[in-house]
Amino acid sequence: MGKWYSDFLYKYKSGISHEFLFHFNIRDYMDNYRNIDRYIYEEFIKPRNFAIVAFYDISRGLTFLDQGMEREFNIITSNNAADYMHSLPSRIFPYIDKALKNTRMALFIDHVEKIIPSGDIGSMTMEERIALIWLSEWSTNSKISAVGSAIFMLADNIADVSKEILKSSYKVEPVLVELPVEEERLRYIEYLLRDRSVKTDISMDEFAKLSSGLSRKAIKDIKLRAEAEGVPISFEFIKEKKHSVLKKEYGDVLEFIYPEIGFEDIGGMDKAKNYLIKNVVEPIRKGDLRRVPMGILLCGPSGTGKTLLVNALAKTSGFNCVKIDMSRILGQYVGESEKNFKKCLLGAQSQQPVIVFVDEIDTTFRRGDSGDSGVSRNIFSEFLQFTGNTNNRGKVIFIAATNRPDLLDPALKRAGRFDKKIPILLPEEEERAEIFRIMIRKYGFETDITDFTPFARMTENYTGAEIEIVVRKAYEIANEDEKSGEFITADILEEAIKRCRPSTQQVEYMTELALKECDDLDLIPEKYRQRKSTDM
Ligand code: ADP
Repeated sequence: MGKWYSDFLYKYKSGISHEFLFHFNIRDYMDNYRNIDRYIYEEFIKPRNFAIVAFYDISRGLTFLDQGMEREFNIITSNNAADYMHSLPSRIFPYIDKALKNTRMALFIDHVEKIIPSGDIGSMTMEERIALIWLSEWSTNSKISAVGSAIFMLADNIADVSKEILKSSYKVEPVLVELPVEEERLRYIEYLLRDRSVKTDISMDEFAKLSSGLSRKAIKDIKLRAEAEGVPISFEFIKEKKHSVLKKEYGDVLEFIYPEIGFEDIGGMDKAKNYLIKNVVEPIRKGDLRRVPMGILLCGPSGTGKTLLVNALAKTSGFNCVKIDMSRILGQYVGESEKNFKKCLLGAQSQQPVIVFVDEIDTTFRRGDSGDSGVSRNIFSEFLQFTGNTNNRGKVIFIAATNRPDLLDPALKRAGRFDKKIPILLPEEEERAEIFRIMIRKYGFETDITDFTPFARMTENYTGAEIEIVVRKAYEIANEDEKSGEFITADILEEAIKRCRPSTQQVEYMTELALKECDDLDLIPEKYRQRKSTDM
């Protein structure tokens, strides 16, 4: 039984409501083969003796499960509704109203966002307003609940539906139909592949893990495509499919990251690595999810490896990793952006266990001006709600990075959202030597340098990213120099350092800001600790 179904059943049985709005992954199979309406019909309606089961959407009008039910409906409405079966809500809803109150009726309303679209009341047409009144009043009608009728509304994106209907004066209950979780995907994959008609390069467990964020239908598509092309299902195959699904569903806003680097590929940052291993990786391994922080804020100058750290954490923890590109959300029309944002958050959440990464968060959620230049209040509160949802603890880890923590909206920094603020600062001498080594290895450059300490000494105030530039420059110089033939000598590396100066711009200021933001002395490098404790 899916979580959505138990949520719904609980709300129905405890009398919380008899009108529901199912949203998000509603076009998927709810188990191995059943669509949502069939599932609800077979599991819920059939055993409960409903007299009428009917379906309405504005294109097909009102239809019934069988003719007997249609007859029953016509008797209740004294045959007056017969001409209006294909009409708009204002015409047919009064008859539906009658039936709902007279006999036990189950009514499915699909594409409800086309009937009562979002937007303010002022811009709604008369037809939409009428439908809105019927739909909201049904939810609180005691006759309907006494008779035992139930209404199931369906919408792909809840943000497309008029917010009026979800106001607390009514009792319409939203039910989130999530994408299948790993275990559900595994069961579905076992079911799909049971006939062994396709080969797989990966185990079913791996397939289930890799297919996070995909619906059962998308998983089935993968199988069908592999079958049609006569190729085995592989990592690449799934990756491609996932990419196209994410693109189609969420535009360019959600990016799925396949982390390729681990903690060992990051120079320095011992304190940050240590913290993450002790408080994220190990608790996850032990299944002690309560210890995992809900959110982490990485503060420090650009190019110090914050993104890298998130990648490494994803790889080591085995969590999925998605990046939300807020600038793309903000580039959209105001109404659009809100709707898409909500969907993206659900999309990100559905990849759980997942790390959700937002880079340069200060550019979106600035203090004070969350009105026009930043982001709308609605998006902001959506975001707060998402990051503060404790049900996600241990399953969704939210990580944001910023070089200007001072600009962040204080509401975002309040306790509960970012359990930890980690300063990511310029590398120190030893760390720089390590980064040199890592960079040479990463690019596979040849060199006879064994000790990078002298070069680390020459590169005070360089970020990790700038050391990377130096090393690449050295390779360039080596290539120009005919004698050395791509070989990086000490002289060449020194020359490269001279040619690539660090952009000290604001680095000091950003370091100050990061130190000020961080309240855990254990995470602050020794050399700044003294300063920090006198500050406080
Ligand atoms: P930030 O997110 O802090 O702006 P990034 O993680 O994007 O920085 O770093 C940019 C690049 O610089 C990385 O892709 C990596 O190649 C290099 N880099 C930065 N810091 C380090 C480090 N400590 N160890 C290894 N590489 C680093």
